Amino acid sequence: MQTEPLYWTNSYLKSVKASVIKVYEDGFATDKTVFYPGGGGQPFDTGWVAIDSGKWEVVKVYRDGSLVVHVPGESLEVSVGDEVELFIDWERRYRIMRLHTSLHVLSAVMYERSGYLITGSQIYEDRARIDFPAEEMNKEMAMEIVEEANKVASQGHQVEVFFVTPEEAREMKHLFRVADFSKYEKYMTGPLRVVKIGDIDIQFDGGTHVRNTSEIGRIKFLKYESKGRRNRRIYITVEP
Ligand SMILES: [Zn+2]
Repeated sequence: MQTEPLYWTNSYLKSVKASVIKVYEDGFATDKTVFYPGGGGQPFDTGWVAIDSGKWEVVKVYRDGSLVVHVPGESLEVSVGDEVELFIDWERRYRIMRLHTSLHVLSAVMYERSGYLITGSQIYEDRARIDFPAEEMNKEMAMEIVEEANKVASQGHQVEVFFVTPEEAREMKHLFRVADFSKYEKYMTGPLRVVKIGDIDIQFDGGTHVRNTSEIGRIKFLKYESKGRRNRRIYITVEP
């Protein structure tokens, strides 16, 4: 039993009709879904579930093995076999897709500029942050990097999503900017999802992105922080 993750092949799907395949104390899993269950620094989607004439809020989504569980805001009686219609909060999700894609562009710019490899990132519904080891960084440099990312994003690079076998992944490992490729070995048991942005970035990635970097809009610098001796952090948002 598994939930088909439709957001993996089409991040622009806003709703889907699905069947309930398992009922939990706090929610239900369906045979397919448009709801991203969270992970890889990207928050889970929120939205609504419609059954017959009623519509309920979906306040939380999580993964249970290969199932995606939708948690309604108030108690909702569903049974295995019920047909439901799932709707994501598209405005929220689309902003998250733009924020997520902008982090790829920022990381590409930082690497191009100074060879920095990202040490962490987190996306929120209204902003995102990216961490990298760079003792010599300061706020002005951070703002310059964001400006450079805006130039690169506005060039309109295509964002491609595809799956590779573990063998293919190992063959293309020189393309990935990672300090230690062997950290991916534990995932090399089945198809791996790859997100490639023009010639500027390529990553193993389970998240949702826009189709073209021109959809990001304007990346706005929010805040710069020193986290410990080496780690530096930049907060950004996207406008409009
Ligand atoms: Zn990504």
